[in-house]
Amino acid sequence: MCISTNINTQLSLCDPSSTITFSFLFIHFKIKDMAGDSYEEAIANLTKLLRVNTDFTDFATAKIKQLTTELVAAELEPFNPDERIRTGFNRFRNENFRQNLELYSQLAKGQNPKFLVFACSDSRVCPSHILDFQPGEAFVVRNIANMVPPYHKTKHSGTGAAIEYAVIHLKVENIVVIGHSSCGGIKGLMSIPDDGTIVSDFIEHWVQICSAAKSKVKEEANELDFSEQCTNLEKEAVNVSLGNLLTYPFVREAVVKKTLALKGAHYDFVKGAFELWDIEFKISSSLSF
Ligand SMILES: [Zn+2]
Repeated sequence: MCISTNINTQLSLCDPSSTITFSFLFIHFKIKDMAGDSYEEAIANLTKLLRVNTDFTDFATAKIKQLTTELVAAELEPFNPDERIRTGFNRFRNENFRQNLELYSQLAKGQNPKFLVFACSDSRVCPSHILDFQPGEAFVVRNIANMVPPYHKTKHSGTGAAIEYAVIHLKVENIVVIGHSSCGGIKGLMSIPDDGTIVSDFIEHWVQICSAAKSKVKEEANELDFSEQCTNLEKEAVNVSLGNLLTYPFVREAVVKKTLALKGAHYDFVKGAFELWDIEFKISSSLSF
């Protein structure tokens, strides 16, 4: 399965000229078909693909041969997590740390981030990568479906502690909640049946923090298909989280004083798009929670 995914990614980066695109679309389809195959079957199918499709361009043929070679090499050298961590850190140290010694010595004295960011734990949406945050710029909380639970002293206290620390001690000026495309947590919330039956120990309880957003989406866009409803829910859930942030007294106070802004965002990693919005809360002295 992983091997096929890797191939699809590489193929999508290939020459977009029309002839080659046509060939690759075909290969892409064939390789998708192999997703359930074993490693040996995947290799055999790639080889067969080369043999039976004589109409491939030289470029396409060379690419398939290269992928086949890489697959064989990957099998000979199984993934080594320790080595991956070691090489990753070495690269960071050589290309980043040693180039920014002054920054890191400043950071040793303390941090002064402007942002508290809520992002999903999803491996594809790291906020430091997509927003190019440098060390010290963003205090980050990541969880399933980037949700902020309402204020409660004992439930979800890990999230409460992070918000309290960021707002009261670090005095962040912005809280950004970032939803994203193809969010598994949001799909999970959307998939909970109307009778409320749940099957997981934690996930479904957690994502129901944004049940109000699900109700809104189903009420306003019931005619949309499941995938479109999920996209809407990815954004509406962000708005519920922004509302939940206001249930924290120290957040509310800072927003009223205008020392803190709350922002919603949605990152689409298929289109490579990022949407950012402000929420205008109507806060008056008579508003109480
Ligand atoms: Zn997600």
